[in-house]
Amino acid sequence: MIKISSPIVGNKEYKAIKEVLNSGNISQGKKVEEFENNFSRYIGSKYATAVSSGTAALYLSLLALGIKKGDEVITTTFSFIASSNAILYCQATPVFVDINPETFNIDPDKIEEKITSKTKAIIVVHLFGLPADMIRIKKITKKYKISIVEDACQAHGAMIGDKKVGILGDIGCFSFYPTKNMTTAEGGIVVTNNKRINDHIRLLRNHGMKRRYEYKEVGFNLRMTDIHAAIGIIQLRTLDMLNQKRIDNADYLTKNLSNRVECPIIAKGYKHVFHQFTIKIPKKRELFQTKLTNLGIENVVYYPRPLHKEVIYRNFINPDLKLPIAEKISGQVLSIPVHPSLTKNDLKYIKDSIIKTLAV
Ligand SMILES: *Cc1c(COP(=O)(O)O)cnc(C)c1O
Repeated sequence: MIKISSPIVGNKEYKAIKEVLNSGNISQGKKVEEFENNFSRYIGSKYATAVSSGTAALYLSLLALGIKKGDEVITTTFSFIASSNAILYCQATPVFVDINPETFNIDPDKIEEKITSKTKAIIVVHLFGLPADMIRIKKITKKYKISIVEDACQAHGAMIGDKKVGILGDIGCFSFYPTKNMTTAEGGIVVTNNKRINDHIRLLRNHGMKRRYEYKEVGFNLRMTDIHAAIGIIQLRTLDMLNQKRIDNADYLTKNLSNRVECPIIAKGYKHVFHQFTIKIPKKRELFQTKLTNLGIENVVYYPRPLHKEVIYRNFINPDLKLPIAEKISGQVLSIPVHPSLTKNDLKYIKDSIIKTLAV
Protein backbone atom coordinates (compact mmCIF):
# COMPACT_ATOMS: atom_id res chain seq x y z
CA MET A 1 0.00 0.00 0.00
CA ILE A 2 1.29 3.47 -0.88
CA LYS A 3 0.34 5.49 2.18
CA ILE A 4 -1.19 8.99 2.13
CA SER A 5 1.46 10.18 4.61
CA SER A 6 4.57 8.75 6.16
CA PRO A 7 6.56 10.57 8.84
CA ILE A 8 10.31 10.53 8.21
CA VAL A 9 12.03 9.87 11.53
CA GLY A 10 15.24 7.97 11.97
CA ASN A 11 18.55 7.62 13.73
CA LYS A 12 19.13 11.34 14.24
CA GLU A 13 15.82 11.72 16.07
CA TYR A 14 16.55 8.56 18.06
CA LYS A 15 19.93 9.90 19.16
CA ALA A 16 18.47 13.29 20.05
CA ILE A 17 15.75 11.70 22.21
CA LYS A 18 18.29 9.49 23.93
CA GLU A 19 20.43 12.51 24.75
CA VAL A 20 17.47 14.25 26.38
CA LEU A 21 16.55 11.13 28.34
CA ASN A 22 20.09 10.90 29.64
CA SER A 23 20.30 14.62 30.46
CA GLY A 24 18.04 14.42 33.51
CA ASN A 25 15.67 17.11 32.20
CA ILE A 26 12.92 15.62 30.12
CA SER A 27 10.07 18.15 30.45
CA GLN A 28 10.10 21.74 29.14
CA GLY A 29 13.65 23.04 29.26
CA LYS A 30 16.67 23.99 27.14
CA LYS A 31 15.67 21.94 24.07
CA VAL A 32 12.29 23.66 23.90
CA GLU A 33 14.06 27.02 24.04
CA GLU A 34 16.46 25.98 21.28
CA PHE A 35 13.59 24.74 19.12
CA GLU A 36 11.70 27.99 19.64
CA ASN A 37 14.73 30.03 18.62
CA ASN A 38 15.35 27.91 15.53
CA PHE A 39 11.72 27.97 14.47
CA SER A 40 11.28 31.73 14.86
CA ARG A 41 14.50 32.24 12.86
CA TYR A 42 13.14 29.94 10.16
CA ILE A 43 9.78 31.73 9.93
CA GLY A 44 11.25 35.20 10.38
CA SER A 45 9.26 36.06 13.50
CA LYS A 46 10.53 37.87 16.58
CA TYR A 47 9.06 35.31 18.98
CA ALA A 48 7.98 31.69 19.13
CA THR A 49 6.36 29.69 21.93
CA ALA A 50 6.23 25.90 21.68
CA VAL A 51 3.12 24.17 23.01
CA SER A 52 1.64 20.69 23.21
CA SER A 53 -0.30 20.74 19.91
CA GLY A 54 -1.52 22.86 17.01
CA THR A 55 -4.90 22.96 18.70
CA ALA A 56 -3.30 24.38 21.86
CA ALA A 57 -1.51 26.97 19.70
CA LEU A 58 -4.84 28.14 18.23
CA TYR A 59 -6.59 28.18 21.59
CA LEU A 60 -3.86 30.18 23.34
CA SER A 61 -3.70 32.61 20.40
CA LEU A 62 -7.38 33.42 20.73
CA LEU A 63 -7.10 33.76 24.52
CA ALA A 64 -4.15 36.13 24.12
CA LEU A 65 -6.29 38.26 21.79
CA GLY A 66 -8.90 38.40 24.56
CA ILE A 67 -11.53 36.40 22.64
CA LYS A 68 -14.42 35.62 24.98
CA LYS A 69 -18.11 34.83 25.19
CA GLY A 70 -20.18 37.04 22.91
CA ASP A 71 -17.35 37.65 20.44
CA GLU A 72 -17.47 36.45 16.86
CA VAL A 73 -14.50 34.91 15.08
CA ILE A 74 -14.61 34.49 11.31
CA THR A 75 -13.09 31.41 9.72
CA THR A 76 -13.33 29.12 6.70
CA THR A 77 -15.91 26.36 6.69
CA PHE A 78 -13.48 24.01 4.94
CA SER A 79 -10.76 22.85 7.32
CA PHE A 80 -9.89 20.38 10.06
CA ILE A 81 -12.27 20.80 12.98
CA ALA A 82 -9.52 22.09 15.32
CA SER A 83 -9.59 25.44 13.47
CA SER A 84 -13.11 26.21 14.66
CA ASN A 85 -13.08 24.21 17.91
CA ALA A 86 -10.55 26.72 19.24
CA ILE A 87 -13.21 29.42 18.86
CA LEU A 88 -15.72 27.37 20.81
CA TYR A 89 -13.21 26.70 23.63
CA CYS A 90 -13.31 30.49 24.19
CA GLN A 91 -17.12 30.35 24.18
CA ALA A 92 -17.07 32.69 21.20
CA THR A 93 -19.13 32.15 18.03
CA PRO A 94 -17.52 30.76 14.87
CA VAL A 95 -18.76 32.62 11.78
CA PHE A 96 -18.14 30.42 8.76
CA VAL A 97 -17.27 31.75 5.32
CA ASP A 98 -17.41 29.93 1.99
CA ILE A 99 -14.30 29.05 -0.03
CA ASN A 100 -12.75 29.65 -3.41
CA PRO A 101 -13.35 26.45 -5.43
CA GLU A 102 -9.86 26.47 -6.94
CA THR A 103 -7.69 27.19 -3.89
CA PHE A 104 -10.00 25.57 -1.29
CA ASN A 105 -9.13 28.56 0.93
CA ILE A 106 -11.48 31.20 2.39
CA ASP A 107 -13.00 33.44 -0.28
CA PRO A 108 -11.94 37.03 0.49
CA ASP A 109 -14.99 38.34 -1.41
CA LYS A 110 -17.27 36.79 1.18
CA ILE A 111 -15.61 37.97 4.38
CA GLU A 112 -16.78 41.57 4.59
CA GLU A 113 -20.49 40.66 4.58
CA LYS A 114 -19.94 38.54 7.72
CA ILE A 115 -18.36 41.29 9.80
CA THR A 116 -20.45 42.71 12.64
CA SER A 117 -19.72 44.87 15.68
CA LYS A 118 -18.93 41.62 17.54
CA THR A 119 -16.24 40.43 15.10
CA LYS A 120 -12.90 40.37 16.92
CA ALA A 121 -10.68 38.10 14.85
CA ILE A 122 -10.36 35.90 11.82
CA ILE A 123 -8.64 32.51 11.71
CA VAL A 124 -7.18 32.14 8.22
CA VAL A 125 -6.31 28.56 7.28
CA HIS A 126 -3.66 27.86 4.64
CA LEU A 127 -5.31 24.63 3.59
CA PHE A 128 -3.28 21.72 2.22
CA GLY A 129 -0.13 23.90 2.29
CA LEU A 130 -1.34 26.68 -0.02
CA PRO A 131 -1.31 30.21 1.43
CA ALA A 132 -4.69 31.94 1.55
CA ASP A 133 -5.08 35.33 -0.16
CA MET A 134 -3.52 37.29 2.70
CA ILE A 135 -3.13 40.52 0.73
CA ARG A 136 -6.86 40.91 0.24
CA ILE A 137 -7.70 39.56 3.68
CA LYS A 138 -5.38 42.07 5.33
CA LYS A 139 -7.04 44.96 3.51
CA ILE A 140 -10.34 43.95 5.10
CA THR A 141 -8.97 43.32 8.61
CA LYS A 142 -7.18 46.68 8.59
CA LYS A 143 -10.36 48.49 7.63
CA TYR A 144 -12.35 46.88 10.47
CA LYS A 145 -9.48 46.54 12.99
CA ILE A 146 -9.77 42.77 13.26
CA SER A 147 -6.88 40.54 14.36
CA ILE A 148 -5.60 37.73 12.16
CA VAL A 149 -4.64 34.31 13.50
CA GLU A 150 -3.06 32.17 10.80
CA ASP A 151 -3.76 28.47 11.08
CA ALA A 152 -0.57 27.35 9.34
CA CYS A 153 -0.84 23.82 10.74
CA GLN A 154 -0.55 22.42 7.20
CA ALA A 155 1.78 25.04 5.78
CA HIS A 156 5.26 24.99 7.37
CA GLY A 157 7.49 26.88 4.95
CA ALA A 158 4.72 28.05 2.59
CA MET A 159 5.26 31.59 1.32
CA ILE A 160 3.75 34.59 -0.38
CA GLY A 161 6.55 36.48 -2.11
CA ASP A 162 9.55 36.37 0.21
CA LYS A 163 7.50 36.04 3.42
CA LYS A 164 6.61 32.82 5.17
CA VAL A 165 3.06 32.15 6.31
CA GLY A 166 2.65 32.41 10.07
CA ILE A 167 4.01 35.93 10.16
CA LEU A 168 1.65 37.50 7.61
CA GLY A 169 -1.03 38.19 10.24
CA ASP A 170 -0.81 38.93 13.97
CA ILE A 171 -0.24 35.39 15.26
CA GLY A 172 0.69 32.17 13.44
CA CYS A 173 -0.02 28.62 14.62
CA PHE A 174 1.72 25.43 13.52
CA SER A 175 1.17 21.75 14.32
CA PHE A 176 3.80 19.02 14.49
CA TYR A 177 1.45 16.04 14.33
CA PRO A 178 3.08 13.10 12.48
CA THR A 179 1.18 13.62 9.19
CA LYS A 180 2.31 17.26 8.86
CA ASN A 181 5.26 18.52 6.81
CA MET A 182 7.43 18.17 9.93
CA THR A 183 6.74 16.45 13.25
CA THR A 184 7.56 16.30 16.95
CA ALA A 185 5.15 13.32 17.43
CA GLU A 186 2.67 15.71 19.04
CA GLY A 187 3.32 19.41 19.36
CA GLY A 188 2.64 22.91 18.16
CA ILE A 189 4.11 26.39 18.13
CA VAL A 190 2.88 29.99 18.11
CA VAL A 191 4.86 32.67 16.28
CA THR A 192 4.35 36.44 16.51
CA ASN A 193 6.16 39.77 16.37
CA ASN A 194 4.07 41.08 19.25
CA LYS A 195 5.90 40.81 22.60
CA ARG A 196 2.79 41.36 24.70
CA ILE A 197 0.95 38.53 22.93
CA ASN A 198 3.96 36.23 23.16
CA ASP A 199 4.45 36.92 26.88
CA HIS A 200 0.78 36.23 27.51
CA ILE A 201 0.87 32.92 25.62
CA ARG A 202 3.97 31.84 27.56
CA LEU A 203 2.16 32.64 30.79
CA LEU A 204 -0.99 30.75 29.81
CA ARG A 205 1.06 27.74 28.67
CA ASN A 206 2.34 27.23 32.20
CA HIS A 207 -0.46 27.79 34.74
CA GLY A 208 -0.30 31.59 34.40
CA MET A 209 2.84 31.37 36.50
CA LYS A 210 5.25 34.29 36.28
CA ARG A 211 7.71 33.02 38.87
CA ARG A 212 7.46 29.84 40.88
CA TYR A 213 4.05 29.80 42.62
CA GLU A 214 3.36 33.38 41.62
CA TYR A 215 0.25 33.30 39.44
CA LYS A 216 -0.95 36.13 37.21
CA GLU A 217 -4.12 34.36 36.05
CA VAL A 218 -5.70 30.94 35.67
CA GLY A 219 -3.55 29.20 33.07
CA PHE A 220 -3.04 25.69 31.76
CA ASN A 221 -0.44 23.03 31.27
CA LEU A 222 -0.01 23.11 27.49
CA ARG A 223 3.77 22.80 27.50
CA MET A 224 6.00 20.98 25.04
CA THR A 225 8.61 18.59 26.45
CA ASP A 226 12.34 18.59 25.66
CA ILE A 227 11.87 15.11 24.18
CA HIS A 228 9.45 16.45 21.57
CA ALA A 229 11.50 19.60 20.98
CA ALA A 230 14.62 17.50 20.34
CA ILE A 231 12.77 15.74 17.51
CA GLY A 232 11.62 19.11 16.17
CA ILE A 233 15.16 20.51 16.08
CA ILE A 234 16.24 17.65 13.83
CA GLN A 235 13.10 17.80 11.68
CA LEU A 236 13.38 21.53 11.02
CA ARG A 237 16.82 20.99 9.44
CA THR A 238 15.34 18.95 6.59
CA LEU A 239 12.01 20.77 6.23
CA ASP A 240 12.96 22.85 3.16
CA MET A 241 14.53 19.86 1.41
CA LEU A 242 11.52 17.64 2.08
CA ASN A 243 9.10 20.42 1.08
CA GLN A 244 10.99 20.66 -2.21
CA LYS A 245 10.42 16.92 -2.74
CA ARG A 246 6.71 17.44 -2.14
CA ILE A 247 6.74 20.28 -4.68
CA ASP A 248 8.61 18.13 -7.23
CA ASN A 249 6.20 15.24 -6.67
CA ALA A 250 3.25 17.59 -7.11
CA ASP A 251 4.81 18.98 -10.33
CA TYR A 252 5.10 15.48 -11.73
CA LEU A 253 1.48 14.62 -10.87
CA THR A 254 0.15 17.92 -12.24
CA LYS A 255 2.12 17.61 -15.49
CA ASN A 256 0.86 14.11 -16.09
CA LEU A 257 -2.71 14.35 -14.81
CA SER A 258 -4.01 17.89 -15.30
CA ASN A 259 -5.38 17.16 -18.78
CA ARG A 260 -7.60 14.46 -17.30
CA VAL A 261 -8.45 15.63 -13.80
CA GLU A 262 -8.47 18.98 -11.97
CA CYS A 263 -5.16 19.42 -10.11
CA PRO A 264 -4.07 22.18 -7.68
CA ILE A 265 -3.60 25.62 -9.23
CA ILE A 266 -1.06 28.00 -7.70
CA ALA A 267 -1.13 31.78 -8.17
CA LYS A 268 2.07 33.61 -9.08
CA GLY A 269 4.28 34.44 -6.09
CA TYR A 270 2.72 31.73 -3.91
CA LYS A 271 4.74 28.82 -2.54
CA HIS A 272 2.50 25.79 -2.00
CA VAL A 273 4.19 23.17 0.23
CA PHE A 274 1.76 20.36 -0.62
CA HIS A 275 0.79 19.02 2.74
CA GLN A 276 -1.80 17.36 0.52
CA PHE A 277 -2.21 16.98 -3.23
CA THR A 278 -5.94 17.30 -3.75
CA ILE A 279 -7.74 16.57 -7.00
CA LYS A 280 -11.43 16.82 -7.85
CA ILE A 281 -13.53 13.83 -8.80
CA PRO A 282 -16.88 15.40 -9.68
CA LYS A 283 -18.70 12.13 -10.35
CA LYS A 284 -18.72 8.74 -8.60
CA ARG A 285 -15.94 9.63 -6.19
CA GLU A 286 -16.63 6.69 -3.93
CA LEU A 287 -16.24 4.19 -6.75
CA PHE A 288 -13.04 5.92 -7.84
CA GLN A 289 -11.74 5.67 -4.28
CA THR A 290 -12.50 1.97 -4.00
CA LYS A 291 -10.70 1.24 -7.28
CA LEU A 292 -7.68 3.30 -6.29
CA THR A 293 -7.54 1.58 -2.90
CA ASN A 294 -7.74 -1.80 -4.61
CA LEU A 295 -4.73 -0.79 -6.70
CA GLY A 296 -2.85 -0.19 -3.44
CA ILE A 297 -2.97 3.60 -3.28
CA GLU A 298 -4.29 5.11 -0.09
CA ASN A 299 -6.55 8.08 -0.78
CA VAL A 300 -8.49 10.24 1.66
CA VAL A 301 -11.27 12.80 1.52
CA TYR A 302 -10.13 15.92 3.38
CA TYR A 303 -12.80 16.93 4.36
CA PRO A 304 -16.07 15.07 3.79
CA ARG A 305 -18.26 17.79 5.38
CA PRO A 306 -17.83 21.55 5.63
CA LEU A 307 -17.60 22.62 9.27
CA HIS A 308 -20.96 24.44 9.24
CA LYS A 309 -22.56 21.05 8.52
CA GLU A 310 -20.96 19.31 11.50
CA VAL A 311 -23.60 17.68 13.69
CA ILE A 312 -21.79 18.67 16.88
CA TYR A 313 -21.97 22.34 15.83
CA ARG A 314 -25.77 22.22 15.54
CA ASN A 315 -26.29 24.20 18.72
CA PHE A 316 -23.63 26.82 18.03
CA ILE A 317 -24.49 28.08 14.56
CA ASN A 318 -27.47 28.88 12.37
CA PRO A 319 -28.66 25.49 11.05
CA ASP A 320 -29.96 27.12 7.85
CA LEU A 321 -26.56 28.55 6.90
CA LYS A 322 -25.74 27.68 3.29
CA LEU A 323 -22.20 27.86 1.93
CA PRO A 324 -22.75 26.26 -1.48
CA ILE A 325 -19.18 26.14 -2.81
CA ALA A 326 -17.82 24.24 0.18
CA GLU A 327 -20.88 22.01 0.25
CA LYS A 328 -20.25 21.07 -3.39
CA ILE A 329 -16.45 20.85 -3.21
CA SER A 330 -16.46 18.59 -0.15
CA GLY A 331 -18.29 16.06 -2.33
CA GLN A 332 -15.56 16.19 -4.99
CA VAL A 333 -12.15 16.48 -3.32
CA LEU A 334 -9.76 13.59 -3.03
CA SER A 335 -6.22 13.70 -1.67
CA ILE A 336 -3.64 11.33 -3.12
CA PRO A 337 -0.08 10.61 -1.90
CA VAL A 338 2.47 13.40 -2.51
CA HIS A 339 4.74 12.94 0.53
CA PRO A 340 8.55 13.03 0.22
CA SER A 341 9.07 9.28 0.79
CA LEU A 342 7.50 8.41 -2.57
CA THR A 343 9.92 6.88 -5.06
CA LYS A 344 9.95 7.61 -8.80
CA ASN A 345 8.28 4.23 -9.29
CA ASP A 346 5.59 5.07 -6.74
CA LEU A 347 4.83 8.32 -8.54
CA LYS A 348 4.63 6.65 -11.93
CA TYR A 349 2.41 3.94 -10.46
CA ILE A 350 0.11 6.55 -8.87
CA LYS A 351 -0.12 8.44 -12.16
CA ASP A 352 -0.79 5.29 -14.23
CA SER A 353 -3.35 4.02 -11.73
CA ILE A 354 -5.28 7.27 -11.74
CA ILE A 355 -5.35 7.43 -15.53
CA LYS A 356 -6.47 3.81 -15.65
CA THR A 357 -9.17 4.36 -13.02
CA LEU A 358 -10.47 7.51 -14.71
CA ALA A 359 -10.77 5.68 -18.03
CA VAL A 360 -13.20 2.99 -16.85
C1 LIG B 1 -3.53 19.40 12.27
C2 LIG B 1 -4.33 20.64 12.23
C3 LIG B 1 -4.67 21.33 13.40
C4 LIG B 1 -4.44 20.79 14.79
O1 LIG B 1 -3.18 20.40 15.08
P1 LIG B 1 -2.92 19.30 16.24
O2 LIG B 1 -1.46 19.38 16.44
O3 LIG B 1 -3.38 17.99 15.69
O4 LIG B 1 -3.70 19.72 17.43
C5 LIG B 1 -5.34 22.53 13.27
N1 LIG B 1 -5.68 23.03 12.07
C6 LIG B 1 -5.39 22.39 10.92
C7 LIG B 1 -5.77 23.00 9.62
C8 LIG B 1 -4.72 21.17 10.96
O5 LIG B 1 -4.46 20.52 9.83
